Amino acid sequence: MIEAGRVAVVTGGGRGIGRAIAARLAREGANVAISYRSNDGAAEETAALVREAGVECGIFKGDVSSAEDVEAVFKGVSETFGRLDILVNNAGLTRDNIMLRMKEDEFDEVLRTNLKGTYLCTRAVLRSMVRARWGRIVNISSVVGLVGNAGQANYAASKAGIIGFTKSVAREVAQRGITANVVAPGYVETELTGVLSEEIKQQIRDQIPAGRIGEPEEIAGAVAFLAGEEAGYVTGQTLAVDGGMVMQ
Ligand code: NDP
Repeated sequence: MIEAGRVAVVTGGGRGIGRAIAARLAREGANVAISYRSNDGAAEETAALVREAGVECGIFKGDVSSAEDVEAVFKGVSETFGRLDILVNNAGLTRDNIMLRMKEDEFDEVLRTNLKGTYLCTRAVLRSMVRARWGRIVNISSVVGLVGNAGQANYAASKAGIIGFTKSVAREVAQRGITANVVAPGYVETELTGVLSEEIKQQIRDQIPAGRIGEPEEIAGAVAFLAGEEAGYVTGQTLAVDGGMVMQ
């Protein structure tokens, strides 16, 4: 459980895995702020789900890859809630291409959003967590960051980068009551993976010991544990939630 009154920020909380995380943290007792980039309707739907749990929700529009936007989002969170205890860096995107064809802007956009976005949002919260001597940072990577994936060199680099980033931050703030951990989902049914053909999805299922694609709520369960009061002695770890696809 999460102590009543704590405030969580979930980036990319409008849709998909981020929505499930926001709803789950709300059910655990946290007030939740979500950030998103452009889809206002989806963000409003997440906010309604969060409020159903009887907690407060704030929605903040901003691009995580822009330092100005991130500053504005976290200023808004601070003015609305007055504190910030939990950060879930979930916003992310793919721009797939094989290396022989990958354009510089496809590489840059993915690194800017997934990795630099994680850095900018972490930077925005860390000082107040240090002051409070309590904090939980959960960064969403991917099993692709652990084992690579043909056609996703940019995405795999960003997701592997998140793991190294998280371990470094975890070491820096471990004595301040702050943990930083990674959840690495396998394949999860969302709009991000909705573009895959049924044939590709079947090929993916064949590689998963559990024999099925994951649900956003299953990722949210792992995040809730790492964000909770009882996970204070877990830091710098990467938890794959992937039906056994990648066993380390
Ligand atoms: P979706 O595409 O369904 O949702 C992405 C969310 O991130 C949206 O709310 C979107 O905002 C937001 N977002 C995207 N870019 C930005 C940005 N630059 N600034 C702010 N918000 C942004 O993705 P998923 O839910 O599937 O993925 C969530 C996370 O999980 C990602 O980090 C992804 O890499 C990771 N992941 C997903 C897997 C999967 O199989 N689905 C597997 C492994 C990891 P808006 O709604 O406004 O567009």
